[in-house]
Amino acid sequence: MNVRDSEHMIAELNRQEPYELTENLNEADLIIINTCSVREKPVAKLFSEIGVFNKYKKPSAKIGVTGCTASHLGEEIIKRAPSVDFVLGARNVSKITQVINQKHAVEVSTDFDESTYDFAEYRSNPFKAMVNISIGCDKSCTFCIVPATRGEEISIPSDLIVQEITKAVATGAKEVMLLGQNVNNYGRRFGSNEEQCDFTQLLRKISQIEGLERIRFTSPHPLHMDDAFLEEFANNPKICKQIHVPLQSGSTSLLKAMKRGYTKENFINRCEKIRALCPEAAISTDIIVGFPGESDPDFEDTMDVLEKVRFEQLFSFKYSARPHTEAATFTNQIDSDIAGERLTRLQSRHTEILDEVMDAQLGAVHQVYFDELKSGGRVSGRSDDGKLFFVQGSEELLGKILPVKVIKTSRGALDGEVL
Ligand code: SAH
Repeated sequence: MNVRDSEHMIAELNRQEPYELTENLNEADLIIINTCSVREKPVAKLFSEIGVFNKYKKPSAKIGVTGCTASHLGEEIIKRAPSVDFVLGARNVSKITQVINQKHAVEVSTDFDESTYDFAEYRSNPFKAMVNISIGCDKSCTFCIVPATRGEEISIPSDLIVQEITKAVATGAKEVMLLGQNVNNYGRRFGSNEEQCDFTQLLRKISQIEGLERIRFTSPHPLHMDDAFLEEFANNPKICKQIHVPLQSGSTSLLKAMKRGYTKENFINRCEKIRALCPEAAISTDIIVGFPGESDPDFEDTMDVLEKVRFEQLFSFKYSARPHTEAATFTNQIDSDIAGERLTRLQSRHTEILDEVMDAQLGAVHQVYFDELKSGGRVSGRSDDGKLFFVQGSEELLGKILPVKVIKTSRGALDGEVL
């Protein structure tokens, strides 16, 4: 979502101001640091990064801080780093061309509704488009700062979404990634229009776009994975068979303390349903270890879900207390070393699972969409189920979807040959 926000800012700056991207810092007239605040580390990095930019930038170059850290620190950023010219929150991306010319502008409201704003177009990859389907987040997960930085959830009208994808397809994109904090909660609330459309209906609508061949989305929430949605996922040939099912913890009591709205059993049941409807689907997840109160048996529950579901991709994090969140006030915080040990155990076991999953791919044939030229005469692309492939080849492969046989496997990617 941050990458898409950056693309929107680039597009607006191209449309309304004479700015172009540069690779050279000392050439830049405007430096935008688009930030995340979901964990503490990136926030800490922000101020050292500003120091580095100050050292190497042109004296006249402006610096702006945008995104979620901008939303939650606001004016404090300029107080701590007076060289910062403007601060623009994650819910105010469309105002980028206003704030760049306003000394010390701070636009961080979290109730600004830009769900119907028609952003100019810019794609970092011409073959794939990212399209937001909602802004904000309505959940109240006790660990998460996102609702405080991105505001309440508002769905983008489906006609606008279809229009944006149609435009992207006309300029070469065969694949779309639909973005939202909880994509399968789509349609629960619109800004001004009275539309009735849920996520499953949206997927059907989008799949009618001619020339669009692949639909991906992230992230769905396990709580909203009803059967109708999973059946659409399994049966709609344009929907890629890769699904992110964020677990967070395998312990039902911890899930309750996190306010996730599902139990360990519900979660496993949804994953089993996905496997039953669509055995070829790759399931990925997010896990937090060391959430306040996490006991050894709680952690064993998480390990147990890992064994049962055998996630293909795992994004795992040590819990980090965040401002404006309920869990930051919990008194049963976990020792950082214990959390660290648990994280290592989780990740090593997952690595073993991943090795088994990838090794089993030798000789398999996948439809790969080639979208990037690499060094050494190689081209990369993704299979329908999201695996990264490399083949020998040149730019004539770009933009094509071709059958590829796996000739060598590794943990992160597969080498293949085009059949
Ligand atoms: N809307 C998504 C979450 C987006 S944030 C969802 O509900 O799944 C991406 C991931 O960051 C989360 O899934 C979670 O695993 C992690 N995360 C969020 N807050 C965190 C915190 N305080 N400490 C550690 N990890 C966190």
